[in-house]
Amino acid sequence: MNKMNCDISAVLFDEHKIQTRIRELGLEISNSYKDSTPVMVGILKGGFIFLADLVRSITIPVEVDFLAISSYGNDANSSGIVKIRKDIDIDLSNRDVIIVEDIVDTGLSLEYIKDYIWQHKPASLKTCVLLDKPDAHKIDVCFEYIGFSIKNEFVVGYGLDFAERYRNLPYIGILKEELYK
Ligand code: 5GP
Repeated sequence: MNKMNCDISAVLFDEHKIQTRIRELGLEISNSYKDSTPVMVGILKGGFIFLADLVRSITIPVEVDFLAISSYGNDANSSGIVKIRKDIDIDLSNRDVIIVEDIVDTGLSLEYIKDYIWQHKPASLKTCVLLDKPDAHKIDVCFEYIGFSIKNEFVVGYGLDFAERYRNLPYIGILKEELYK
C-alpha cells in the first residue's frame, strides 16, 4: 500500500494509460525526425520521468540534455517568474530541438523556455508536453505534441510534485485540495 495514495482525491491517468500514450508520442516523433538526430531537452525537475520514458519509446537516435528551471515555490500558484538553475550543455545551434515539459498551466514558463532556446539558434524547435490545462492559459502558447488535456486542477505524480513530494507516484492524480489550500 502506497502511503501517498490517501493524499490523492482521484487518479486521472494510471501507469498503463500513460505508457500507451507515450508509445504513440514516441512513434509520432520517430516518424517526424527520420532524417535527423534531435536534441531532447527535458525540463527539470517535473519532466524527468516523462523524458526517461519518452526517449525509450523513440526508435531514432536522439541526444538528451536538461534545463532546470524553477517557477513554483512550495505553493500551487504560478508566479510566472522563471529562473534558470541548470543550463543546457549541448550546442543547440543548427540542431533540431524538442523541449520535453511536464505540464502547461498559464503557459508563461514554456514561453520563457522557448524564447531562451531560440537564442541558441536551433534549426527547428518543437515542444512535447505531457499535460495541458487549456483553461488556465494566460497567453497564447503553442506546442506540437501533447499527452493529455486536463481540467484546471492541481495534479501530482509521475514527476510532478507538491513541495517536492509525490514525484515518485507511478500515476497522475489530483491532490486533495485541503493539502494546499
Ligand atoms: P506555467 O508557467 O505554465 O503556469 O507553469 C508551468 C510549471 O508549473 C510546470 O512546469 C509545473 O512545474 C508547474 N505546475 C503547473 N501546474 C501544475 C500542477 O497541476 N501540478 C504540479 N505539480 N505542478 C504544476
